[in-house]
Amino acid sequence: MKQVRVRPVSYAVVATLALVAIWLTPSLEQRKVFALHPVVVARPGVEPADFHLNPLVVEASNTDLLDTLAIAGVIHSSLYNALNESGVGQLPPSARHQLAWSLADIFEYKVDMSRDLRAGDKFHLLVERLQKPNGAIIVSKVLGVRLALSGGTNPLEAIHFDTPGSSTGQYYDASGMSLRAAFLRAPLTFRRISSIFGARKHPIFGQWRNHTGTDYAAAEGTPVRAIGDGVVIFAGRKGGYGNMIDIRHRNGMVSRYGHMRNFAPAMRPGTRVTMGSTIGYVGMTGWATGPHLHFEIRVGGVAHDPKLALQSRGGEPIPSGERSLFQKMRTQTLASLNQARVANVSE
Ligand SMILES: [Zn+2]
Repeated sequence: MKQVRVRPVSYAVVATLALVAIWLTPSLEQRKVFALHPVVVARPGVEPADFHLNPLVVEASNTDLLDTLAIAGVIHSSLYNALNESGVGQLPPSARHQLAWSLADIFEYKVDMSRDLRAGDKFHLLVERLQKPNGAIIVSKVLGVRLALSGGTNPLEAIHFDTPGSSTGQYYDASGMSLRAAFLRAPLTFRRISSIFGARKHPIFGQWRNHTGTDYAAAEGTPVRAIGDGVVIFAGRKGGYGNMIDIRHRNGMVSRYGHMRNFAPAMRPGTRVTMGSTIGYVGMTGWATGPHLHFEIRVGGVAHDPKLALQSRGGEPIPSGERSLFQKMRTQTLASLNQARVANVSE
């Protein structure tokens, strides 16, 4: 048998060449596809099969495809329905549903989506649509929103902006103030509220009574969240309220939560709670014939309209170093929002 002599130096040469080759190979970047004109969704009545995206050219790709999508619509019956109609042909149903939740999350310091919306309210949305190599389509990010409430004076705007150093982006209004505030507008997350848009009826008495709080119909056991940082001043049974918690906030305002099935652990007078933390669970204790949460805002012992009492003043401003970058983003986002044509004008 012939002896094969391998010189050690050849290994070194091969290894070096391999390293050079690896170094020279371009890295596979996430491919970004920016539509020059935002895709306009304006085909009410046309129901293409879900996942079958007519205008979108699906390229064979082993990378994610990312594009931006501008959607606009009018709210006729509910936020879900409006987004469902506006996103037809552009997003699968699951993504359209998710979008309603995202919208509620973005404005959770400003708008109680289960209460504050009226027929005729308009929204414009700019979203990043991500298509996975397996064909799944999701909304990866909401870049901007304009929400024009019929009762409101100015449209609410939200612009997504990543400040360097923070892992998640925040939403700012057009003037560069953070949408975050000291109080959440609702004690339940929008996705858990079962009340139907437009229903202004009391879940138990049928008629909407001139009663001192807001009732949220939700499944028994739904987590109830503190609307702001504060201290528990009452946790126990109280007449018609059933299992009730009162939280005093720094500005002296008290938030009240009634009819709860049970409380989260350690809820007793003196306990400190943080905004969004779970304080208990929806139930039907006290004067309640169905599971719901009674929510009240009290100032000086008197119940106030949460819509007015929780009106937030501007949040933290954009750091001064980021202002010019933000202004560029804002101009771009608002211009793109303007190009979205309203999908479901008449109904
Ligand atoms: Zn009530």
